[in-house]
Amino acid sequence: MGSIEDIKSRLDIVELIGQHTPLKKAGRNYKGLCPFHQEKTPSFIVFPDGQNYHCFGCGANGDILSFVMHTENVDFSEALQILAQRAGVVLRPPTPAEKESDKQRERLQELNLAAAQFFHHQLRYGDAGAGARAYVESRGLTPETISAYLLGYAPDRWDGVLNYLRERGYSDAEINTAGLTIEREGGGGFYDRFRNRLLFPIRDAQGHVIGFGGRALADDQQPKYLNSPQTPLFDKGAVLYGLDQAAPAIRRDGRAVLVEGYFDVLWAHQAGFKNVVAPMGTALTATQVHLLKRLTHRLYLVFDADAAGAHAMLRGMEVIREALDERTVPVPTAQGLVRFERELDGEVRIVALPAGRDPDEVIRADPAQWPQLIADAVPVVEYVLRSLALEADLASAKGKAEAAERVLPLLAEIHNPVEQAHYVQRLAHIVGVDERTIAAQLRGPGRARREARRRDQPPPPLPEIPLLGRKEEIVEGYLLALLYRHPHLWADLPAGVDPLLSQEVHRALLELFPSGAARSPDMLPGELRAYLEGLQRRFGTDLNLDDESARRALEAIVNRLAALANERQRREYQDVLIQAQEEGNQELAQEVVRHLSDLSQRRWTITMPPPRRLYPDARRHMGEEGEGSG
Ligand SMILES: [Zn+2]
Repeated sequence: MGSIEDIKSRLDIVELIGQHTPLKKAGRNYKGLCPFHQEKTPSFIVFPDGQNYHCFGCGANGDILSFVMHTENVDFSEALQILAQRAGVVLRPPTPAEKESDKQRERLQELNLAAAQFFHHQLRYGDAGAGARAYVESRGLTPETISAYLLGYAPDRWDGVLNYLRERGYSDAEINTAGLTIEREGGGGFYDRFRNRLLFPIRDAQGHVIGFGGRALADDQQPKYLNSPQTPLFDKGAVLYGLDQAAPAIRRDGRAVLVEGYFDVLWAHQAGFKNVVAPMGTALTATQVHLLKRLTHRLYLVFDADAAGAHAMLRGMEVIREALDERTVPVPTAQGLVRFERELDGEVRIVALPAGRDPDEVIRADPAQWPQLIADAVPVVEYVLRSLALEADLASAKGKAEAAERVLPLLAEIHNPVEQAHYVQRLAHIVGVDERTIAAQLRGPGRARREARRRDQPPPPLPEIPLLGRKEEIVEGYLLALLYRHPHLWADLPAGVDPLLSQEVHRALLELFPSGAARSPDMLPGELRAYLEGLQRRFGTDLNLDDESARRALEAIVNRLAALANERQRREYQDVLIQAQEEGNQELAQEVVRHLSDLSQRRWTITMPPPRRLYPDARRHMGEEGEGSG
């Protein structure tokens, strides 16, 4: 069905990955050094049977599309283009509207690059750029850094870049669309937006120049920092400065460090700390967190060690928490059972700088201090408690109450009871009230009621699902088709489904569904839409369920998926284990054993459904033996 499957069927994952990293046959599988993290002994395994890979060192996993997305740092559609070319498959021809908008984007990218080169030339060689040159040198940037990041100078003229781009054949309208000019009042033409400013070209994750950030050079210039406006290419809430250069380092290091300014990024990179990026003068947005999530789930935020920083961060945390998502983890109960709880899928730590210092100052003064500061980063709660102790008006009852109120939501999210008790004690000590008062507030009447309700409610009975089968992909497809047909189901979808999906195309559909990028299937990229339509045809009337049946079907599918993924992984890992033991690779063997024991524990938590037939027609999509889907 459709060209995605066509492309995948023509390519072999072993061959593709083998051209990237040398692979050696090990039993029925292949192994090599992981391209996503640094290692000395191979723990990266490619499974030809399932056409997927798994790294036992860093957890990277996926199919051929995931591999290209992560090694080339491209999105799903771009990865598909790359693979289509390899496979000699022509993708669905773009519609005239798509062609037009692609052409416009490309033209704007070229225009931006030309402008960046003009500004860069002014900074390096222009007479007018002498002041800017001196300024950049005084900030300690090397010529290599200046050219690698294409820093530039916008001359103090009304028609500097405007004339240059006109000569290169760009129309005034195009130059204005790129955000490089401002329209004169009354419509009498355009003038340069950036004048007498040091310019930082902003590049997207693939390295295209999409906009500019400009720093004032004269004391009386306002504002101090001026960005490109919103354009078809540039959305300041959707980019991170330095990301194109930082991406490989973030993936390797498993951490992204967020700083505030351009100079902080440049200095960090120049000193060899390449996993550093900066939002564009705004608080971190959900889109930015999503960009980083492709690379790592560990975010380190660098802050001034003052109270204002802590306040700003508490606000920012809301966004980060929502964007990082929660995942469902099994938690053992006192009765020896397992229940699922949601916890933040990721780690956020705070790097506190010495008071009054910027990151670039810290690194310039002593580069060795930087790794130490990163290593000393503390969890968010810890940071907030520390700044609370320094700051708040803790003498008055009102001050105490307010301080506690601010920290309580953070404490409530700590699921480990020992850890939570520790912080309750700390908070009690800081605000000078009894621990029990804090603990009682933490449980609060509202919270207690909610928990009680959750406990009292018996789990809804599930429809019948056969436990084992070979048709993981069909079940995944059914899940996505059902979700897009019944969008309200999104609210019931448990977190943590993403890693259960074996096909990148399904992960892409899942990721695009709720993000607002694709409120309706019409907004999906063409090839994904075609694929989804294929799924919907395939499952046909089996998608026509009433709300309640759809909800039950969803629950059943997710459980089924968990069982299938578990089974497949256990099979794959067993093979790897046998092979590792034969070769005496103790390190890998131990890692695999750890994964296997995780898997068997998780198997306990998969609900076995009572035999009921709610939607018998749907059963054949659930991987039942002898299934016969169309
Ligand atoms: Zn790895």
